[in-house]
Amino acid sequence: MSEQPKSLIPYGKQSIDDDDLAAVAAALRADYLTTGPRIAEFEAAFATAVGAKHAMVCSNGTAALHLSAMALGIGPDDIVLAPTLSFLATANGPHYTGARIVFMDCDPETALVRPQDVEDALERAGGSVKAIFITHMNGQICDIEAISKIARRIGAYLVEDACHAVGTEYTDSQGITRQVGDGAYSDLTNFSLHPVKTITMGEGGVVTTNDSTLHKQMCRLRSHGMTRDPDEFEVEELAFAADGLPNPWYYEMPSPGYNYRATDIQCALGMTQLAKLPRFAEKRRSLASEYDALLAKHNGPMRRFGRVEGCDPVLHLYVALIDFAAIGLDRGGFMRQLSALGIGTQVHYLPIHRQTYYAKLNPGLSLPGADTYYSQCLSLPLYADMTSEDVRRVMDALKSLGA
Ligand SMILES: *Cc1c(COP(=O)(O)O)cnc(C)c1O
Repeated sequence: MSEQPKSLIPYGKQSIDDDDLAAVAAALRADYLTTGPRIAEFEAAFATAVGAKHAMVCSNGTAALHLSAMALGIGPDDIVLAPTLSFLATANGPHYTGARIVFMDCDPETALVRPQDVEDALERAGGSVKAIFITHMNGQICDIEAISKIARRIGAYLVEDACHAVGTEYTDSQGITRQVGDGAYSDLTNFSLHPVKTITMGEGGVVTTNDSTLHKQMCRLRSHGMTRDPDEFEVEELAFAADGLPNPWYYEMPSPGYNYRATDIQCALGMTQLAKLPRFAEKRRSLASEYDALLAKHNGPMRRFGRVEGCDPVLHLYVALIDFAAIGLDRGGFMRQLSALGIGTQVHYLPIHRQTYYAKLNPGLSLPGADTYYSQCLSLPLYADMTSEDVRRVMDALKSLGA
C-alpha cells in the first residue's frame, strides 16, 4: 500500500469561512464599492476592538506607516529612529517623507528594541529626533512604558508598528491590562491585514490613535489630501455660496496626499475577520503553547525565542532559535530539506540596515543583537487552521534533521 502524500504546512496562511465570502459578495452587490458606509463601520469596530478612540483604515500596512509619518509632520530634515529588526516598511514608511532613518538594535532573544537600544541610537543620531518607531516583533510588546518615557524626555513622537501584534494584551506598571492599539503610551499604532497576518482583508492597514487631530490628518492624506469639511475651508469665496452654504462640489487640498484608500469590499472582509479575532487569538495562543511544551522537553541545538513578562501575546510568528553550525547544515539547506518534508518556514528578517540601500547610507554600522537574532531565527508554521497534529509533524521534521 502506498502512503498518502502529506499536505504542505505553510508557515502562515489566511483562514476564510463562508461568512467572509457572503460579506464580500454583499459588498459587491451594494451601491458603493469604495468610499461607502463599510469604511466607517469597519473603523468603528476596529477602534472598539483595540480600545482606541479612532481608527483609520487604508490600503495596506505600509501606507499606514507612511500616513503616520506624514500626519506627524515628519519631513526632509527630520531624524527618525526605527528598528533594524523589522519588515522594510517600518523604515520605509517614515523614509518616504525624506526623513533620515537611524537604526536601533534589539534583544538577540526576543528581537524587541530595548530602552538601551533607543539611547544608543539617540547618541548616534547627532541631532534632535522627531519620532521613534518601534515594532512589536512576532506579537510580543516592547517595553513601551520605558520607551515612551524616553520619547517624552526628548520631545519625540512614539509610533508603534503593531502589524504582528493585533490582539496582544499586556499588563502595565499600574496593573492595568491593556490592548496593543489602545494608545496608552504612544501617539499612533499601525496594523496590517495582509493575508499572513492574524486577520486579513486581502490587503489593508489601520492606524489607531486617541488624538482626533492626527486622525483627521491621516483621513485627509489617505485620499489625495482633500478635505470636504466646511469648518476647514480656507478660501471662503470659492467654498461658500452667497447664502453662506458650502458649495456641493467643493473640496480643498491644503497639502498633497495619496490615494491610499481601502475599498468597501476589503472592509467587508475586515469586519467578518475582526469578529473572529478572539477565536483566532485563542487558537494561536494554544498552538504556541503546544510548541512551547514540545520545545521545553527538547534537548538540542533548537530553543524557543525569548518571552516577555507581563505580555499575553497573540503571536504572529512562532520562532525557533537554532544553532545551525551545531547541526552541520546552513539555514538555506535546512529550510530546503524541511520543505521537502512538507514544512514551510521563513526568516523574519534580514536586519534592515543590511539591505543594500540602507547599508550604503550606514557604512560600518554594527548592531550585534539584531545580527545574532537574525543568524538563528526560523519562523515555524503558525495559523488559525493549523492542528495539534500539524505542530507535532513540524517538530518531528525539525528533530529528524538534527535540530
Ligand atoms: C506586514 C508588515 C508591514 C507592512 O504591511 P503591509 O500590509 O504588507 O504593507 C509592516 N511592518 C511589519 C512588522 C509587518 O509585518
